[in-house]
Amino acid sequence: MKSRLGRWQAILEQRCPRCLNGKVFTGLLDMHEYCPSCGLKLEREQGYFLGAMYISYALALILIVAFALVLMVLLPDVRYEYVVFLAFVPYLLCVPAVFRYSRLIFMHFDRSTNSSTFDEHYRPVPPEPKP
Ligand SMILES: [Zn+2]
Repeated sequence: MKSRLGRWQAILEQRCPRCLNGKVFTGLLDMHEYCPSCGLKLEREQGYFLGAMYISYALALILIVAFALVLMVLLPDVRYEYVVFLAFVPYLLCVPAVFRYSRLIFMHFDRSTNSSTFDEHYRPVPPEPKP
């Protein structure tokens, strides 16, 4: 059962912070407005994901430093400034993942620290139609 997933596994699988079951994203960068499983409004208010920017900065820094270190080992004769510049090339391929995971980490952090106000933004999921 998906709802028994741990929070970290739910983040990795890009699931809802409330039920840990519903998929958050519909496309590469598009999100559901409400969780398809529990009805939670994912963008609680306008500007809600501003906090995810800080997580995005941290993830970007970690990735760029990691890519720069790998490139410094692979290209020992290239100047440091160029290696850092080259590190942005593989990072650009990671931008959609950084976007998604920064929002997911922020939503799960918000859920775990503000769970009492989190459930106010909720739309009941209609029951499945009977055949
Ligand atoms: Zn949900």
